[in-house]
Amino acid sequence: MREIQLERLAWPEIRAALERGFETVVFACGATEQHGPHLPLLVDAEIGTRTAVETARRLGKCLVAPTVRIGCSDHHMAFAGTLSFRRATFDAVVTDYCRSLAHHGFRRICIFPSHGGNVAPLSALEPTLRNTVGDGTEVIVDTDLMGLMAVWTEGVEAAAGLGDKVGGHADIAESSILLNITPDLVQEGKAERGYVAELTHEDLGQIIAEGLHTVTPNGILGDARGMSREIGAHLIDKMAERLEEVFRPV
Ligand SMILES: [Zn+2]
Repeated sequence: MREIQLERLAWPEIRAALERGFETVVFACGATEQHGPHLPLLVDAEIGTRTAVETARRLGKCLVAPTVRIGCSDHHMAFAGTLSFRRATFDAVVTDYCRSLAHHGFRRICIFPSHGGNVAPLSALEPTLRNTVGDGTEVIVDTDLMGLMAVWTEGVEAAAGLGDKVGGHADIAESSILLNITPDLVQEGKAERGYVAELTHEDLGQIIAEGLHTVTPNGILGDARGMSREIGAHLIDKMAERLEEVFRPV
């Protein structure tokens, strides 16, 4: 295929791909939300698209549906510009994506969150999605946030020995990946340290109930300093490798 992103293909090409056995489709549920003083709001959306493309290439005979670029980001609303879907909106968007994809003949729909706030909503929605698309279509949802965090920590450690700077949001991991995907949008000189202590249960509760800004005024969890394109390339590879395992048929 000259191209595997659905929105960049013409309909006859998609029909032909389906006829040739491209029955798997993958997409990310990202966000448009603050990522510290040095990164743009599109981080989770663009990381989602790039990871989806790399994962689809590994899986083979797989197309990539458009990333859902807005997610459940209520806890980031204190920061200017963040957009957030209510749960009902998010559920409806993801459900209608799956209905459309199943309608066209995709038989395996693989969904992953590229934004932490979408993990719980996707987990809760998974059974409903399966009912929505019917028996002929499989829906596989990756909701292993800890698995992703492990890839980031181990990956940053392996690539640069800086695993302790990973905190999960706008940190060295996400900054490095963005440096790889859209270097022109990273303001490296504004990279800072955020909240670096390990997040306790109480911290997480406070983030959800009162907002991320009450834990980290600059919007960073972890430390963004030390980022590099090399770390980013390594992480993209490892993230796709993990998702390939999650989505590959057994
Ligand atoms: Zn993010």
